[in-house]
Amino acid sequence: MRRRAIERGDAIVRCLRYCARVPLFDARKRPLRNLRLSVTDRCNLRCQYCMPEEEYSWLPQSGVLTFEEVVRVLRIFLSLGVEKVRLTGGEPLLRRDVEQLVGMVAKLDGLRELAMTTNGVLLADKAVALRQQGLQRITVSLDTLDPSVFRSLSRRDDLHRVLVGIEAAQRAGFDELKLDTVVIAGVNDGEIASLLRYAIDRGAELRFIEYMDVGGATHWRKDAVVSRAQILATVERTFGKTEPIARDSAPAERFRLGNGATFGVIASVTQPFCSTCDRSRLTADGVWLKCLYATKGTHLRDLLRSDMRDEQIAARIRDEWTMREDRGAELRMAMPDRQPLAQRDELKKEPHLEMHTRGG
Ligand code: SAM
Ligand code: SF4
Ligand code: SF4
Repeated sequence: MRRRAIERGDAIVRCLRYCARVPLFDARKRPLRNLRLSVTDRCNLRCQYCMPEEEYSWLPQSGVLTFEEVVRVLRIFLSLGVEKVRLTGGEPLLRRDVEQLVGMVAKLDGLRELAMTTNGVLLADKAVALRQQGLQRITVSLDTLDPSVFRSLSRRDDLHRVLVGIEAAQRAGFDELKLDTVVIAGVNDGEIASLLRYAIDRGAELRFIEYMDVGGATHWRKDAVVSRAQILATVERTFGKTEPIARDSAPAERFRLGNGATFGVIASVTQPFCSTCDRSRLTADGVWLKCLYATKGTHLRDLLRSDMRDEQIAARIRDEWTMREDRGAELRMAMPDRQPLAQRDELKKEPHLEMHTRGG
């Protein structure tokens, strides 16, 4: 009798949470607020820090969530406190009719921000439609302004298309454009000042990202990482003193230059920010990962394709987030002989370990 009453009470609490969007905290008091949704594992570039291999194991198409399934699972996440959704990949603009998906997601109740990270290659053709469908922010990855470096870094000859894509996005009204640069020693660290100048001239905010040992980065070496400290020193040599801007839970630490322009540094390797991490990731086939370095995830697609009701799936997500302890980057920083998260043969067997599958 008493047990049944407790179970009923528990069900009511779950229902209230589901309906009233009570914020959900993990075991380290971090809210569930941001979701990165990978809409495809396919990519039209082969960045050396992400996809350096010749061959990959791809997710079977039949397993990829349909737009209706994406909308359903997002509605569940929004009911649990998620406010910001970022579409990513692989290359999100390769997902057929992605602008239609944007339109469907943008209409969801409770969504405060809908953003996308793209390599920009297809952006010129898509920018207007994405804006019209309700995409609010775009981040374009831009690692170099030198066509030959672009070619050797990404194994494609598409720098011009990326630059045209950036202009098109700004013309389409994405005026708070962000540019992301992974800095790699001996590859593009000589371009820190010129990339920042390029961003400032266009009113975009550049974020320098430390090269991470994530799944897929099989060529990662500690001495190829250009640290936050080195990046700041290089910026200051050209632009003068930088002033830190107060920080929130976002991964980027932001700085202001003397001329008022701002830029960011994402120091995931040398100064991880796991203690405020409110992000989780969903792969295109519905595997939910609570950390970028997690080696296992929850197969939400199986739940979505079962006879479970939304409240039951929400309860499962809630229970798992409540138990979340992950702090992958902090633990990796403490490793004496740090190596890439996964080796080539492990990645072939388990593509969910790949950065291009889980989404950056
Ligand atoms: N294809 C899109 C793009 O490149 O913008 C979106 C997906 S990509 C996986 C998302 C972000 O992850 C990109 O900004 C990319 O630079 C970053 N990334 C990939 N591998 C990385 C690594 N080893 N270290 C740091 N950032 C990485
Ligand atoms: Fe490069 Fe993004 Fe493609 Fe990875 S997913 S290879 S970072 S463009
Ligand atoms: Fe969050 Fe994991 Fe990245 Fe730390 S390593 S910031 S916990 S995703």
